[in-house]
Amino acid sequence: WLAGLFSLPHGTSGIITSGGSLGNMTALLTAKAQYLNNHPQTSLNKLALLVSEEAHYSVSRAIAILGIPAENLIKVAVDDKFRMRTDLLEDYYNKISKEGKVVFCVVGSSCSTSSGSFDDLTSIAYFAKKHGIWFHVDAAHGGPAIFSKRYKSLLDGIDHADSIVMDFHKM
Ligand SMILES: *Cc1c(COP(=O)(O)O)cnc(C)c1O
Repeated sequence: WLAGLFSLPHGTSGIITSGGSLGNMTALLTAKAQYLNNHPQTSLNKLALLVSEEAHYSVSRAIAILGIPAENLIKVAVDDKFRMRTDLLEDYYNKISKEGKVVFCVVGSSCSTSSGSFDDLTSIAYFAKKHGIWFHVDAAHGGPAIFSKRYKSLLDGIDHADSIVMDFHKM
């Protein structure tokens, strides 16, 4: 039912966790497992992910638990409305690749908890598809906007996500 609301592909499944933190960790664990499945020789020290500098701290905590070095969590600058500067994603990607690391995941924030800003998921999805990167959306806070005729457009592009986290105890 929820997958349908988010216009996710037929056959999409989901699980209930104790909250958004465990949800984010589960999603990032899945992203990591999928990458390592396809590229078994990759060392954990090489795995990098892109996230807005306004993202929730549970993302960095999950990365630490997954054994990925903290410096591989690359925080993308935000604009004057605290949204991820998606125009910079290619630059970050090229810089990380030059350092010999691989971007395995990009995380969109819908919304960021402190500012209420929704990232441009359509642009992030385009970037993720182009490079074959897992696209996770942390919609712990703002996912329930999907229930609102007036506000659901804030989540445009979420149907391209590989994983979504949504809390039922927030908005
Ligand atoms: C609250 C929140 C989380 C963590 O959710 P919990 O249910 O508190 O574990 C993760 N991401 C965002 C954006 C949040 O607002």
